[in-house]
Formats: sequence, C-alpha cells, structure tokens
Amino acid sequence: MIRIPFFDLQRQYKQLRSEVLGAVTRVCDSQAFILGPEVVQLERKIAELTGSPHAVGVSSGTDAELLILMALGLESGEAVITTPFTFFATAGSISRLGARPLFVDIEAATYNLSPAKLREFLARECTPTPEGVFWSGVRIRGIVPVHLFGLCCDMDQILEIGLEANLPVIEDAAQAIGATYPRKNGPLRAGAISEHSCFSFYPTKNLGGFGEAGMALTKSESAAARMRSLRNHGMEPHYYHSDVGGNFRLDALQAAVLACKLPYLESWSRRRWQIAQRYREGLKHLGPELGLPVEPYCDSLGARGHIYHQFVVRTSRRDALKTALSERGIGTEIYYPLALHEQPCYRGLGYRPDDLPEASRAAQEVLALPVFPELTDSEVDVVIAAVKEFFES
Ligand SMILES: *Cc1c(COP(=O)(O)O)cnc(C)c1O
Repeated sequence: MIRIPFFDLQRQYKQLRSEVLGAVTRVCDSQAFILGPEVVQLERKIAELTGSPHAVGVSSGTDAELLILMALGLESGEAVITTPFTFFATAGSISRLGARPLFVDIEAATYNLSPAKLREFLARECTPTPEGVFWSGVRIRGIVPVHLFGLCCDMDQILEIGLEANLPVIEDAAQAIGATYPRKNGPLRAGAISEHSCFSFYPTKNLGGFGEAGMALTKSESAAARMRSLRNHGMEPHYYHSDVGGNFRLDALQAAVLACKLPYLESWSRRRWQIAQRYREGLKHLGPELGLPVEPYCDSLGARGHIYHQFVVRTSRRDALKTALSERGIGTEIYYPLALHEQPCYRGLGYRPDDLPEASRAAQEVLALPVFPELTDSEVDVVIAAVKEFFES
C-alpha cells in the first residue's frame, strides 16, 4: 500500500539541508544566541513581506498574541471578542491575562469570524459608553479575528465594525503568512490589514522554524516600542524594570533558519494553491455531500487569495471518511474537533453548545486532507480517488 502522510517535514528538509545547516553553523560559530542581528534581519524581512512597519520577533505565536494584548494594556476582568473556531492559543492568551474571551460565531462557508454576527452581538448584547464598550458590565478591549486555514477574514467589514465601536482589531495571522486580502483601497497582506497582528513559525506552519518562534507586528511605533520592552521583562535600561513583561525573546538559531526558508515561501504557497485546485477539480462533483473550501478572493487575486495552510473539506460522514482514508494509508487531521466555547477549561464561561451553532457544527464535519508543497500530483490523485470511492461506492 502507498502511504500518503498528512504532512512530511523531511521532504523540505532534504531539499534545504545544506543551506539551512550553513545558517545554523553561522549562528553556532558566533555563539550569540538571543535576539541580535539575525533576529533584527528577520524582523526587517517579515515587515517587508507584509508591508507592516514594525515586526517584533518572539518565542512563539502564542507569545506574540500575549505580547500584543499586554502592550495594549489588557487587564484582568476585561474582555476581548474572538472566534470559537481556531487553535486554542487565540483564546488562551486572552484568558492568561485574566480577561474573558467573548465568542462570536463563524461563517459556515469560510470558517472565519462572521461580520454579520459580530455586528449583531455588539448591537444586541453590548453597551457603548463614554468609557468604552461594555458587555454585562465587562469592558471590551478589542476584536481578534483569525485568518483560518490561510484565508483572510472579511476584513473590510470587521475593520469598519472595529472603527465604529472604537475597538482595536488584532489579526491572528498565524495560519496566513503571505495571504493577500483585496481591501477596498488595494490589496494588503495578512498581518498588515489591521493595526496589530501575529504570526507563528511553529514547524508545521507555512513558514516553520526548527523549534518555537513567532512574531508580533504593529503599525504603531509606540506599541512596537512597548512590545520590544515587554518581550524582555520590561527591562529598560538593563536591570531596571518599568513594566512587568516576560521572556518572549526570539533566538538567533530560529531567526537564521526562518530567514533561510523565507525566499521559498512564495513558491511554496503557489504550490499549495495548485494542489488545492487539483483537489477542487477532482472532487467538485461530490457536492453538496462533500463541502469544499471557498476562494472568495481568488477571482481578483488568483493564487495570492488563499495560501492553503490547510485544505479542509466538510461532510456529515466525517468520521467514516477519516477511517476509510486511514485504511488506505492516507493521513488526515481534524482542525478542530471541539469548538472553544465547549472546551472543559471554559465551562465556567457558561456557554451552551448551540450558542454558537456554526462553530459546533464545523467541529463535527471538518476534515483536513494532505496539503504541503512537496506533495506530488500523483499522491494528490490517490487521495482524490480514495475520497471518490468512499462517496460513490
Ligand atoms: C499556531 C497557531 C497559534 C499559536 O502559535 P504557536 O507558535 O504554536 O504558539 C495561534 N493561533 C493560531 C490560529 C494558530 O494556528
């Protein structure tokens, strides 16, 4: 039986081995491991790629989210609006500051935060006052939309809502590096659409390090200065602490590896998109039983409109499909099997599953198929054939 892995980092490593090991050796020879020129250079390159003026290298995507919220002064007893259908870190970083995540449901087609439901939530459940917007006596401090699976949220609407409510918007772009959004006054890259944003360089992300790494981006010079200070224990000058920060520093080895991989990112993203087109062509006749990803921006932007961090299909027979593919040696994953408002740790927030029905339904139906740049066309065809066989036999 041919085995088709859900994901395989070895293939990329084999292609880049000597180049990456050269960069690693350079850092080892310098024996300068924390922050320093390698990190500064990567920050510059990521700022350039996205078009955001300030990039702050940090220890993970999670820490980037935490750092942004700390820099914005989010305090215990306050709240931040976000999506219930995302990786846990999005909500977890809000909770870690003692604040409350307020979940607003997703759009069924994109899995992203629904602007219509966001508008409705603010109008029906929140109260604007001169001191800010309040929900049930709790002050709301921002909105965190997530560009899930590599597709940007409907940011024209979300930014408009944020502006009207006077709430900062923080993009969680962890899964969307390089993705482009057709903003009404011209295309923008994920991470530079709103005022603040974060990336993750976890090894399985589209741009992955050899360990943990992340980046916080902002258009505000003063927020950037605060983030640089807070990532290093609020230490300014040395051993004098104006604020309580943390150790969120990025290390030079990760920065060197990431800078080495960055020039390939564009072509990797294009290859992911090509694979997605092959899946779409091969599987489209299985609709509506099998739901395929949508590409709302690809008419105007082509491959730049979706970077396919994941290729996610949906079906009410999800678990059976997963088992059938596994029996044929094909790896798949479920992102995510339980919506955040139903997680055990959030029982205290008092949500019922059907409070956010689209997120709960997605958690029952989604399945991610293999998509990574080194996957071959013939492997994709094997997956397509197996999915067809499942539905047609
Ligand atoms: C990966 C991810 C994160 C966290 O990044 P880490 O680098 O793993 O800490 C945050 N949000 C989303 C949506 C992610 O996919």
